[in-house]
Amino acid sequence: MSLHSKKLSFTTPILVSFSGILIAFILIAVFITLTQRKDFVEDYHNINRNFTHNLAVNYTESILRENDYILGRAATYFSRNDKLDETVNVDPEKGVQVLMQLQNLMPTVSSVSLADSQGHYLRAPDVLPADGSEAVDVRTRPWFIRQAEASIFSHYTSPYMDYFLHQPTVTIFKPVISPEGKLKGTLAFHLDLTVMGYTLRQMVAPVQGEFFVVDRDGKVVLHPDTGALFKQYLSEDVMSRMTSGEGHVFDGKTGFWYYYYSFTNPDWFVIYRVADSTLKDITRHETNIVSWGFALAAIVIILFGLYLRHASRTVLMNIIHAIKTGEVNSAPRLESTLSKTILTNKERERDYVRQATVDALTGCKNRRAFDSDIAALMQEHQHFALALVDIDNFKSINDTWGHLSGDIVLRNVAREGIQVMQPEHISVYRYGGEEFAILFPTDHLDAAFRLVETWRLQVAERTWREEGLQVTFSAGLGEWHFEPLEQLIGSVDEALYKAKQQGKNRILRTS
Ligand code: GH3
Ligand code: MG
Ligand code: MG
Repeated sequence: MSLHSKKLSFTTPILVSFSGILIAFILIAVFITLTQRKDFVEDYHNINRNFTHNLAVNYTESILRENDYILGRAATYFSRNDKLDETVNVDPEKGVQVLMQLQNLMPTVSSVSLADSQGHYLRAPDVLPADGSEAVDVRTRPWFIRQAEASIFSHYTSPYMDYFLHQPTVTIFKPVISPEGKLKGTLAFHLDLTVMGYTLRQMVAPVQGEFFVVDRDGKVVLHPDTGALFKQYLSEDVMSRMTSGEGHVFDGKTGFWYYYYSFTNPDWFVIYRVADSTLKDITRHETNIVSWGFALAAIVIILFGLYLRHASRTVLMNIIHAIKTGEVNSAPRLESTLSKTILTNKERERDYVRQATVDALTGCKNRRAFDSDIAALMQEHQHFALALVDIDNFKSINDTWGHLSGDIVLRNVAREGIQVMQPEHISVYRYGGEEFAILFPTDHLDAAFRLVETWRLQVAERTWREEGLQVTFSAGLGEWHFEPLEQLIGSVDEALYKAKQQGKNRILRTS
């Protein structure tokens, strides 16, 4: 039983199918969301690296190169003849003017120093030493070049305290070497890191972050906020991980991504620092819409699954109902085919039932129908009366007019009976060869008697085609008093037997 109901169940396959679809969908959605998130992060790394590259090359490096270029040209200028000596020692007033002209060329250079190899020097703009303080020995400055360190390249100092301004500063410097290769002195540009840093403020970053320049030790040399200058912004560990010319590293301790671009001279790094949480927020925001879309689609799938489950059950119920009752409302195409099949099936079933319960010769109900109808009446404890009818001397009718005439007699006697009983909604059964039975679903025995009597008279008075043929029947009639079936049949049969004995063509009631 349960095996059949499982086989017929729509619910399980639908639930399995939709669960499968839903699981596949969720897996795909999770995969796409994660991949998309990864792609977004990767995209942002690229964008940020490019931004850092552009910032370093187009802004920082171009300023440094410009200063470097002017430094080189000026050093060459002072290296000729006695130009340096003239500027510093012979006519220092004019010398300061020359240096001021030089300084004016470069907005990011705050002052210019020129020193000979003995330590005599000029500075523009000229700064007078504070009262009482001793003149500075320029040979102690980090930019001063002694003979042994002379090299043709320009150099950058590490950040150091400016003697005059008492501010941390960075200086780019270069030896002044005569065409004969003799070191004559040093030319130094003191960079204005504040001005250089201010321009960094104008940069528009792709995501919220901080950009600045640090030296090899991780100390800030340029920053939009001057308060940050020379502070240790990057740990040694992070600095050591910045190996190639540019790239990005992640510092797990601080939760920052560092996009960097490194120069060789000066040994500085342009840094763009972005918090990991910022990147995560952005990617989350970008993928959230997609995630919500997936969630909505999943809900739609679930709703459709539930609807299909409900609808299939309804269709199944309708089919069952239609098969049972044969009632089919007009429906299109596929459904109409189904409807027709059900109708045909129902008609065939009715035919079978009719064939199974109707006697072919007489048109009465057959013995099988009698057995089932009387059993049903007894089961329902309904009052009823039973009549058994037997044609008199039928054997001799057969013998005299032939078996075929016997059949015709049988059919006509039955038709008379049906004509009498049918208006009262009472069935006539062919009980045996030439025997009939009638079930009266009533406790009025008299009414039953009258109906059988009417039938008997009609048969007895009928004229037949066969010459000299006279047909009569005898009958027994009894009421059911809740006794067993055999007992009831026995007593009605006995009444019939008595009717035969008393001369036939009569109806007797049970005693
Ligand atoms: P009684 O008055 O005592 O009933 O005498 P009877 O001759 O009718 O009694 P019996 O039961 O001995 O005879 C019944 C006969 O009915 C026997 C059988 O050959 C005949 N018969 C039974 N069924 C059919 C049938 O379908 N067609 C024909 N033609 N004869 C049938
Ligand atoms: Mg008989
Ligand atoms: Mg008979």
